[in-house]
Amino acid sequence: MSVRALITGASRGIGAAVARGLAADGFTVILNYRADQEAAERTAAGIRAAGHQVELARFDVSDRDAAEAALMALNDTDAPIGVLVNNAGIVADAPFPVMKPDDWESVTRVTLDGFYNVTRPLVMDMVRRRWGRIINMSSVSGLRGNRGQVNYSAAKAGIIGATRSLAQEVAKRNVTVNAVAPGLIETDMTAGIPDEAVKLVPMRRLGRPDEVAALVSFLASDGAAYITGQVIGINGGLV
Ligand code: NAP
Repeated sequence: MSVRALITGASRGIGAAVARGLAADGFTVILNYRADQEAAERTAAGIRAAGHQVELARFDVSDRDAAEAALMALNDTDAPIGVLVNNAGIVADAPFPVMKPDDWESVTRVTLDGFYNVTRPLVMDMVRRRWGRIINMSSVSGLRGNRGQVNYSAAKAGIIGATRSLAQEVAKRNVTVNAVAPGLIETDMTAGIPDEAVKLVPMRRLGRPDEVAALVSFLASDGAAYITGQVIGINGGLV
């Protein structure tokens, strides 16, 4: 039986690199994205060209009905979704006193509602099959906070709480739940980041998406079977 891996927000950036990594590990990967069809198709084409299996699933993770319908359409008992990477995320930075309601809601909805909307329909099947890997993309911002990111920090800290609690609920069924907390990674999200910010990183450089992907691949592997409920930083020393 082939196991599939669903990666949310996989059209570009970290999610695309995670998808390439998990595909190389032998999983059939399902790339979720919300809007950037061209980027999603480019990422999928690269994975196919490398000789791996890939499917596309366009839906907004913060839209519960859309997520449910898409996950039902993806259901395939011969190829269950055994790996879920909750990676979709957005920023809407602003100093808190002038943060608009939409900045708060959009960020928390994608990260926290997105986690609920995608994970809850899939976790029971993992429990029944007694194997699963859930990997949630948090951030250094969720651990130590960051000016202008009260919304994002709250969402990324929230996902850590969800990780720890769900890990305890499903551990005895061999379903592991972990969070990855990247520092500054070179993607569209960090485009235009000032040099001063990079100088705060002890390694004096941004991380690469494939470096985060290598960590996710490890957490999805059999070698990580006894790791659950953890938050693993990948940040060039930015703690
Ligand atoms: P990115 O380059 O901006 O890519 C974001 C991805 O998320 C895109 O594929 C986008 O798809 C998708 N997405 C956004 N909203 C979505 C929604 N509602 N439903 C489904 N997909 C959605 O971001 P990134 O830098 O790769 O970040 C990936 C994750 O790592 C995020 O959770 C982010 O918070 C986290 N992170 C990033 C950094 C960093 O330095 N880059 C650091 C720490 C944590 P469309 O374009 O098609 O909408």
